[in-house]
Amino acid sequence: MNIRNIIKWSLIVMPVLIALYVLNYIWSVRTHYNYDVTANYEYNNFGDTVIYTQIAEGKILVNVDDKWDSGLLKINIKATNKGKFFNPEVRTGNETHVLERGAQGFRFLNISNHLQLNNHEIQLDFKYCNPADVTCEIILFNNQPLQNKKILVVSPHPDDAEIAAWGLYSNNESLIVTVTTGDFGPKNYDEIVDNDSLHYLLKGRLRFWNSITVPLLAGIEQKNIVNLGYSDLTLKDMFDYKDSVIASHATGLKNTNYYRERNFKDAIIPESDGRPIWSNLVNDFVYIIQNFNPDIIVLPHLLLDYHADHKYSTLAVIEAIRKTGKRDGQFYFYTNHLTGGVRVWPDGRMGDAIDLPPNLCGLGDSVRIRSVKLTANDQIEKTMALEAMNDLRMDLEWLWVKGTWLKFRYRTMKEIMGHEDNYFFKAVRSNELFFVEDINSAIGN
Ligand SMILES: [Zn+2]
Repeated sequence: MNIRNIIKWSLIVMPVLIALYVLNYIWSVRTHYNYDVTANYEYNNFGDTVIYTQIAEGKILVNVDDKWDSGLLKINIKATNKGKFFNPEVRTGNETHVLERGAQGFRFLNISNHLQLNNHEIQLDFKYCNPADVTCEIILFNNQPLQNKKILVVSPHPDDAEIAAWGLYSNNESLIVTVTTGDFGPKNYDEIVDNDSLHYLLKGRLRFWNSITVPLLAGIEQKNIVNLGYSDLTLKDMFDYKDSVIASHATGLKNTNYYRERNFKDAIIPESDGRPIWSNLVNDFVYIIQNFNPDIIVLPHLLLDYHADHKYSTLAVIEAIRKTGKRDGQFYFYTNHLTGGVRVWPDGRMGDAIDLPPNLCGLGDSVRIRSVKLTANDQIEKTMALEAMNDLRMDLEWLWVKGTWLKFRYRTMKEIMGHEDNYFFKAVRSNELFFVEDINSAIGN
């Protein structure tokens, strides 16, 4: 083929490739969110107080005293045409709030970090979007101070505590309880271990070790770090088949003591017969709650978090609380897997704010939030904590050139399509967001 033919075919093939790419991109944008991004976020009648304000000369006045620890800016947004293909952003001062492509309607931006600044005005800058209305609402929350509070963090898997609550737990007296060893999931180490059950046993051991050592980075005492040794994706079965011993799907192991014995010697964990059954899990939490007596229990939200192990960890805690009779204190609920088919939440990058998610599960008027600020240093420390969690790092295939190429291709496509969903980007933010509920009202009598 001579040079003229090569040019001729290139002129035919290249436009086709570009057209296919653009079509793929448009399809990807359209299927990115499984909900209507042009609809309002439906949260109504919440907050301890609401201040009505207006955007004037690109600013809003926030004339409030410092008793308010958490606040949201309810603002009506409309993406520009460019904002249908690139994520629109609202900047409040030096914080970025990333919206959905094509976003339209009311959104609730987390402006908690501005409340303590005392400069009484926030500069608003809009990229690929505009305010549809100059009228805004500032919804404020006055939560109990965190000083001298004891915090129990429930982590269904190694890394959930760090993703959801590193900033909260590292700056307070905390007990970290990880429920499972994280012994299932992707075969990250199949390059070096052929046998499936041996692979997952080693993976479970590594992630178990992650779960009891990473909190040490935050200065958590050894006795306040526990892993209960249950297996990935078994909690629902343990709940459904209450009298049955549920073996690990990954390794066939039926003895939680295989892992529990590796906890620190003085860890707050009860003796166990090692059977992975529901009543043992509930009794583990009864023992821990009675011995630690937390003021705040941080745990997955039953509706907002779709992961089965997350939901059933929370159900086990609630059942344990009923058994203990404890009614004081508060739940701080989190979601690491937002329900409703939202592929990427929170959207954005490290350092951006975590705003309210779309209300896809009908949370009622009692929604109460607590935003915990992460300083620049907190964010660096949180990054290091996530980096120390092996499962958040790359599959071992990166060691080989072919694997590195596959990783490069995978990451590049995710970046182009706006599907980047790694937890370093999703969790290392200027704040952590919790949904607060009094234990008494959540549990009832
Ligand atoms: Zn998890």
